[in-house]
Amino acid sequence: MKGLIGQSGLDARCATQLRVLQCIRMAAEISRTDIARALDSSPATVTAACTALLRAGLICEVERAPSDTVQRGRPRIMLQIAGGAFYVAGMKIARHAILVMIVDSQGGEIVTHTAPLETSRMKAEDLVRAVRRALEAACAGCGLGIGQIAGVVLGMPGFVNGLTGFMHWSSSVLERNVDFAPLFREHLPCPTFIDNDANLVAKAEHLFGAGRGLRNFLVVTVEHGVGMGIVLDGELYRGERGCGAEFGHTKVQIQGAVCQCGQRGCLEAYVGDYAMVRDAATGRQGDGPTSIPEILEAARQGDALAQEVLQRASQFLGVALANLVNLFDPEHIVLARSRPPFDHPYPETMLDALRRNTVEVDAPLPEITVRNLDESMWAKGAAAHGIELVSILKIREQGAADAA
Ligand SMILES: [Zn+2]
Repeated sequence: MKGLIGQSGLDARCATQLRVLQCIRMAAEISRTDIARALDSSPATVTAACTALLRAGLICEVERAPSDTVQRGRPRIMLQIAGGAFYVAGMKIARHAILVMIVDSQGGEIVTHTAPLETSRMKAEDLVRAVRRALEAACAGCGLGIGQIAGVVLGMPGFVNGLTGFMHWSSSVLERNVDFAPLFREHLPCPTFIDNDANLVAKAEHLFGAGRGLRNFLVVTVEHGVGMGIVLDGELYRGERGCGAEFGHTKVQIQGAVCQCGQRGCLEAYVGDYAMVRDAATGRQGDGPTSIPEILEAARQGDALAQEVLQRASQFLGVALANLVNLFDPEHIVLARSRPPFDHPYPETMLDALRRNTVEVDAPLPEITVRNLDESMWAKGAAAHGIELVSILKIREQGAADAA
C-alpha cells in the first residue's frame, strides 16, 4: 500500500507529466516553450507530456493572438488546466462538525457545507458513515451526484499516515490503530484519503496564504489540540510513518500533565484548549470558567487561577516555539487558530520566552505571524491536496491505458 498516492510510485514519464501539470497550474496559462524553459527540460519531452495530459483530459489548449513581432500573424497555443475535468471534496473533521468544500479541477469552489456532528469522538465506522452523509448533503447543495466526485481528502487531528490510510491515534476516533482504507472502499464512492489536518492547513497556507512563495516555513495550529505542518524546501514534510510534525506531543515536562494522547508532559497538555479549561477548574471552589473565552474574561476580571493558567500556557508556547526555531530555522512561523479567534492575552510573555530560549546568533528571529484562520482553510487545503491526488491517479490510468 505504501506509495499508493505518493509521487515515488510514479514512473519517470508519469512524474514528468505531473511536473508539467503543476507548472501549468502555477502559471494558470503557459506555452509549451515556456514550460520547457521553466522546468529546464527539452521541448520534445514537454510536448510528449502535454500530449498525454491532453489525452487524459487534465489540460486544454487555448489560442491567443500573437503578442510579439516574431510570431506576427500566428496565434500562440497556450495550455490551461481543464475546467470540469473532475470534482473533488476536501473535508475537515472538526470537534462538532464536518466541513466540506467541493472544488473543480481548476480549484474553483463549487460549494461549502457544514454537517454537525452529535459527538466529538466516535467509532471509526460511524465517522466514515457521517462523512458519507456530509458528502451527500454537500453534493445535494450544488446539484452534483455523489458519483461525480472523483476523490475525497479527509483532514483529521492525530497521527495518521496519509500514504497508507492508516490512523494510529486521533482525538476524533474512539479506537486506536484503524486502517481506514477498507472502510472508505465500503462506504464511499471514490478514492478517499486521510491526512493530518495541520498538514492540510500548511498546504493551504503554502498555496493561498501566508506561506505563498516561501521555501521553509511552519504552521502551528493551537485549538483543542496543538498541531503543526512543516514545509521544507517547498514540500510538505510528513515523516516516515505519518507521525511527524507532532509538535503538540513534544514533551515539555517530565512526568507532567496528562495529555489526551495518553502520555504525560506534552505541550498540548498545557496549551491546548481542553488543558487550559481543565487547569482553570482544578482546585477551584465553586463555578469557574468552562471555555477559552470565559478564561480570558475571568483573567481580565482579575481571577488569579485563570491568569496563572494563561501565563503558564504563554511561557510553554514561547519555549516550544524557540525549540522549533532552534530545530528548523524557518523563514516564517504562522501561529493559527480558527475558533474562538486568537486572543492571546500575554504575547509579551510568549515572545520573551521565545527570545530567551532561541540559540544566540547575530541575526533576527524568523517572522512570526499570529493569524485567525478562516475555518474554510482547513477544507480548502484538503481540497487542494485532493486535486493533486486525483491528477496523479488520472496520469497513472492514462499511462496504463497507453501501455496496454
Ligand atoms: Zn500528547
